[in-house]
Amino acid sequence: MTLLLDIQNLSICFDTDEGTVRATQNISFQIRKGETLALVGESGCGKSVTALSILRLLQEPPARYDSGSIIFEGRDILHLHESELQDIRGDQIGMIFQEPMTSLNPIFTIGDQIAEPLRRHKNLNTDQARKETLKLLQQVSIPAPEQRIDQYPHEISGGMKQRVGIAMAIACKPRLIIADEPTTALDVTIQAQIMQLLQDLKNEMGASLLLITHNLGIVAQHADRVAVMYAGKIVETAEVLELYDHPSHPYTKGLLNSLPKGKPGESLEPIMGTVPHPAFLPSGCAFHPRCPEVMTQCKTSMPPSFELNFGGKHQADCWLFDR
Ligand code: SF4
Repeated sequence: MTLLLDIQNLSICFDTDEGTVRATQNISFQIRKGETLALVGESGCGKSVTALSILRLLQEPPARYDSGSIIFEGRDILHLHESELQDIRGDQIGMIFQEPMTSLNPIFTIGDQIAEPLRRHKNLNTDQARKETLKLLQQVSIPAPEQRIDQYPHEISGGMKQRVGIAMAIACKPRLIIADEPTTALDVTIQAQIMQLLQDLKNEMGASLLLITHNLGIVAQHADRVAVMYAGKIVETAEVLELYDHPSHPYTKGLLNSLPKGKPGESLEPIMGTVPHPAFLPSGCAFHPRCPEVMTQCKTSMPPSFELNFGGKHQADCWLFDR
């Protein structure tokens, strides 16, 4: 499959009054055309910063791109001018934000908000944009679109708001959709519907999807490959089935162990401790204070990436694989 997005050695810092905070450290991953890559990890691991950086939506300063490249269809996003970025945002790359309650503008109708990228990127006039918006509302299964199109965000439910967010993101048929925790704020029953909708639309358009989530249940059903992130680093990457069959990094194992197994009375096994603040990362492997398999060298030396021998491409940053 052809590469659509190629991120190499991306390090993003925030210059704050308290000093420099490293949000991501030398992260690398690729997304191929038509593929779904899930970026998983607990809150505070750097997933959303990574997602926002692909569209250069982090405020600069305080954000600073310390090193690396973000190559989208052959062009380095980090070297584009603001006008070139505006041509890409919402057109070639669509983004679905975490909180549908706050990502929509309360003073514009949902129709106006969906039509905005169509007018901006496709030069549609008001009538054409309205017709296209009605089609999009149908596509994302919003009932009675002729009435909904003139409603304001506060007049519709959370699930419907997220459907509107998806309609905005796919309006211009982007080649890459970034979905940042698209179901976190929704009821469990609506979550499954929204994920299925996203998957169907992505397949219809032949787009690629970067799915940011902490929900490994969603990942198993919807992703082709997985990159596990911890403390600003990608610590394990693998194809989805391989990751579930052979989780290798102790952090990935911890995430999987903390999932409900569905057996009555069985207690969950959480990962002890919390994600460290990026300004105060532990020495060596940043996971070492929480790791059940920690060794002496883990406390002083940061592990490099090791290729694992499970067939297919599978890497983990952990000294356990230093043979
Ligand atoms: Fe645990 Fe050491 Fe591997 Fe880090 S490098 S995950 S501390 S075993």
